[in-house]
Amino acid sequence: MPTETLEFQVEARQLLQLMIHSVYSNKDVFLRELVSNASDALDKLRLEKLRDDAPDADVSDLHIEIDVDGDARTLTVRDNGIGMSYDEVGQLIGTIANSGTAKFLEELREAKDAAGEEGLIGQFGVGFYSGFMVADEVTLVTRRAGEGHGTRWTSRGEDTYTLEPVDDAPQGTSVTLHLKPADPENQLHDYAAPWKIREIIKRYSDFITWPIRMMPESSAAAGEGDEAPGPETLNSMKALWARSRDEVSDDEYHELYKHIGHDWRDPLETIRLQAEGTFEYQALLFLPAHAPHDLFTRDFRRGVQLYVKRVFIMDDCEALLPPYLRFVKGVVDAADLSLNVSREILQQDRHIEMMRRRLTKKVLSTVKDMMTKDQDRYATFWREFGTAVKEGLVTDPENRDTVLDLASFASTHHDTEPTTLKAYVERMKDGQDDIYYLTGESRQGIENSPHMEAFRDRGIEVLLLTDAVDEVWADAVGEYEGKTLRSVAKGQIDLDAKDDDSADGEREKQTEEYAGLLGWMTEQLDEDIKEVRLSSRLTVSPACVVSDAGELTPALENMYRAMGQ
Ligand code: ADP
Ligand code: MG
Repeated sequence: MPTETLEFQVEARQLLQLMIHSVYSNKDVFLRELVSNASDALDKLRLEKLRDDAPDADVSDLHIEIDVDGDARTLTVRDNGIGMSYDEVGQLIGTIANSGTAKFLEELREAKDAAGEEGLIGQFGVGFYSGFMVADEVTLVTRRAGEGHGTRWTSRGEDTYTLEPVDDAPQGTSVTLHLKPADPENQLHDYAAPWKIREIIKRYSDFITWPIRMMPESSAAAGEGDEAPGPETLNSMKALWARSRDEVSDDEYHELYKHIGHDWRDPLETIRLQAEGTFEYQALLFLPAHAPHDLFTRDFRRGVQLYVKRVFIMDDCEALLPPYLRFVKGVVDAADLSLNVSREILQQDRHIEMMRRRLTKKVLSTVKDMMTKDQDRYATFWREFGTAVKEGLVTDPENRDTVLDLASFASTHHDTEPTTLKAYVERMKDGQDDIYYLTGESRQGIENSPHMEAFRDRGIEVLLLTDAVDEVWADAVGEYEGKTLRSVAKGQIDLDAKDDDSADGEREKQTEEYAGLLGWMTEQLDEDIKEVRLSSRLTVSPACVVSDAGELTPALENMYRAMGQ
């Protein structure tokens, strides 16, 4: 087969341009990305071998190797892991499969300044392409374990890349960066210097569970007659979750998070849990600081990895946490599971079920702690993930009260600061028995609703709920600390009943008086409306439409319709 020259997918090209003209100040991280990919490839191969899916693969000395050649100004990261087939290289390296990419690029175009851009790049995590921050040409040679032929991919990061078959590629993948010319002003960023590589690996990749070796530079090899010096292992390979808290720095935890979470930024919170007894496990979980773009898409990849005694078993392990905590990243290492454990088995395992309940409670209690100890951090968390967490009010009855306690909502009490239900209840007026809310598409839309008039006039606080999930939980939950949650758009709400007993009599009299008109209106609007009645809920608008208590509100109807129900 001859060499093929192919075009990058549009999105891929845009990302490459971004990398080449990168505003990202910390270029060191390209090496972390390449090592992270190599480590993933070794994990995958070991797993295939365990499952007997790759009988011909060589797993005798799985490792990562880094070669620097100062004269040629090249840096190579090599692994003997799973590798890629010819087609896979084209698919995985030439395109960007992630569904959030288009959205990301759109936001990037809108980001006004370099700081905004940098933040967005960090959020996206561009993996393999980050090599182009430091190289003007990248060559990747790979052979899928068990296959006879390899593939070479080359690109200068412009519009095209080339693909060609190679006969003699070793198993696994090597990525060679042709480094950009060194900046004589700034020796600190010379990636052709072994000390620099040592430093970066130690800083970003120390916990990687495979040995990362560096060969001594050939030009610096020992003189004649001496034994050639062997490779040097750069990382300690210690699993962070198995080490005690005081042995590990925050930075080390954060680097692990970045590797697992494919995020370039620090996590918001690190959560450790060690369970001893009949079913032993260690968990190291992270709450990210930012919600990913695809959190609410069907194919969202969760971030909790399952290990069994330090051996990576699977990514995206849905049995470990409920769906409403799908944004949590981390590692769970269980001592007593079979290495062959499957997703199906995990779903039914009694111990896993217990573990999930414990981890869920631990995550929720961590958020609760944040709420009391660090308001700002809690506010960030809720802003980013509150919408997802609220799903738990419907799907996790066991923890419903806890979730209600740590939720916060926009409210008429304050223009920008959300309130907890507890604070709402504390502010309730004398004689007010219910917690009022109104759902809608936007805060402004809700505030302009005629339903709000009477509440505004009487100074009664109303929660302003704008997420689709709000209607579902508010109905399902029903009450908080004995107070009914009531939509101001549903059923009869008699705000004056408490402080004015004569109101009822007055209304009856009026209803009699207007009976003819109301009857006529009900008849005229028969097709759209069940009944026309006098109301005390309006002060300015002449009329408004209300649903019966228990009926779907218009927004909920829309949501169900959107879900195809
Ligand atoms: P991510 O690691 O987040 O998936 P990358 O851009 O880093 O994104 O890599 C894209 C894909 O290319 C990986 O998911 C993997 O399938 C493949 N890949 C990259 N490097 C390697 C490697 N060293 N060995 C095997 N596959 C690799
Ligand atoms: Mg990667």
